[in-house]
Amino acid sequence: MTTITRFAPSPTGNLHVGNIRTALHNWFLARKAKETGGSGKFMLRIDDTDAERSREEFVTGIRADLAWLGLDVDGEERQSDRLAHYEAAFETLKASGRVYRAYETAQELDLKRKVQLGRGLPPIYDRGALKLTEADHAAKAAEGAHPHWRFLLDHDSPITWEDGVRGPQHFDPAALSDPVIRRADGSWLYMLPSAVDDIEMGITDVLRGEDHVSNTAVQVQMFEALGAVPPRFAHEALLMGKEGKLSKRLGSLGCESFQERGIEPDAIVALLARLGTSQPVEPIADRQALVDSFDLSTFGRAPAKFDDADLDRVNTAIVHQMEYEVVKERLPDGMDEAAWYAVRPNLAIVADAAEWWRIVTGPIDLPEFSDDDRAYLAQAAKALDFAAEDPWHALTGALKEATGRKGKSLFLPLRQALTGMDHGPDMAELLLVLGEETARRRLDRAAN
Ligand code: GLU
Repeated sequence: MTTITRFAPSPTGNLHVGNIRTALHNWFLARKAKETGGSGKFMLRIDDTDAERSREEFVTGIRADLAWLGLDVDGEERQSDRLAHYEAAFETLKASGRVYRAYETAQELDLKRKVQLGRGLPPIYDRGALKLTEADHAAKAAEGAHPHWRFLLDHDSPITWEDGVRGPQHFDPAALSDPVIRRADGSWLYMLPSAVDDIEMGITDVLRGEDHVSNTAVQVQMFEALGAVPPRFAHEALLMGKEGKLSKRLGSLGCESFQERGIEPDAIVALLARLGTSQPVEPIADRQALVDSFDLSTFGRAPAKFDDADLDRVNTAIVHQMEYEVVKERLPDGMDEAAWYAVRPNLAIVADAAEWWRIVTGPIDLPEFSDDDRAYLAQAAKALDFAAEDPWHALTGALKEATGRKGKSLFLPLRQALTGMDHGPDMAELLLVLGEETARRRLDRAAN
C-alpha cells in the first residue's frame, strides 16, 4: 500500500504551533506507512497562489523549520509553478458545465446574505448568475465587467466520506454555496488548485484541521468532476490555548520562539505527536517509537489543549536524556563529556549548561564562612585525595569521621566553597570535573 501525504502551507507567515502539528502528523502518517511495509511519502506543497501575500522569506522559513524539526520531505511543489495545470483543469470543468460566470460584488453578496439571515434562511449563494443569458454576459462585457467563476455543485449527488478522525461524514450539497474558484483577474482561490495538486501529486491521504471540513465537502465533488477518486480525508480537532479558546498567542508561537526559549525540536515533536489523542504525552526522544505508536484512531474530537507548562516539562525531560555527541556543538568551548553528564540532570534547557561551565572554570563568588567552617574547609583541603577511586565520597567520609559533622553541616560548606552555590549537580561528579588543582585552590581560598 502506498501512502502519500502533503503539508500545504501558504507562505504568508511563519509556521505556528497549529500548522507544525499538521505537518508532523502528515509526516508520521507517511513514515508509519513505510514502517508497516508499504511505501510512504511526505510532500511539501507551497500554496502560493496568493501572489500579493506570499513571500519568499516565508518559504525559506518553512523549509528551515521543517528541517529543524527533523521532518524530512520527499519532494516539494509550488503552486505558482503549476498555473498551467489549473488552467487545464478549469477548461475541463468548463467543457462539462461545472463552472459558471458571476459578477456580484462583495457588497452585493454581503447584502444578499443579510437578507437571507433576516428571513431565517441559511446564507447560501442563490445562484443568481446561473440565470444570466449569453446576451447578459455580452452586455456585462460591453460595460467592461469581468466575471469571477464559481464551481457548480451537483445538488443531486450527496457528499459522503469516511473521515479518519471524525468518522462517517454526510453533506447535502444544496446546503453549500457554489464556491468561487477564480477571481475576475484570473487568479486562483484555494479550492481548485489544491484539488488538482492532490490528484496530480497522487496524494492518498489528506490530513488537515477541521476548519477545512466544508472545503473537503466541495472538493469531494471537484475530484469527481475531474474524473479522480478522492483521497482519504482526516480532519483533526483544532489546537487551543490552555484557557480553552483559539488563542492569538498560539498563532504567533513558532519554531523561532521555541528555539529562543531553549525548546528542543524533539520536545515539540513528542508533545504534538500525542496532544489531543488518547495516548499519554511522554518525553519520547526516539522518533521511531513515536512513528510506531502514531495512530489516527487515537485522535479525539475535542480540541487539543496546548499548554506551555507541558512543553517545558517535556523539554526538560528530553534535555536530561540528551547525549554529549548530540549537544557538544552547542556547549561552551572546553566543556567536555564528563562536565555535560555531571550538569545534565540540573538543566532546564541546554543553554543553562554554560552557567555551570562558568562555575567550573571560575572565578566564583564565595559566601561569608564562619570561623568554624573556615577551619573545616582547611581540613577538607588537606584531606582531599584524588588518588581515591571516588574522591568526593572519600573526602566526605574522612571529614565525617574526623569532625563528627553530618548532613548539611558536612556537605553545604564544601559545595559552597567549591561552586559558590547552595545547590547544584551531584558533587561526586562535579568534583571530578573541577579537578584536583582547582578543587584544592577553592577550598584553600574559602578557608582563608
Ligand atoms: N494552504 C492551505 C492552508 O494552509 C492548505 C490546506 C490543505 O491542507 O489543503 O490552510
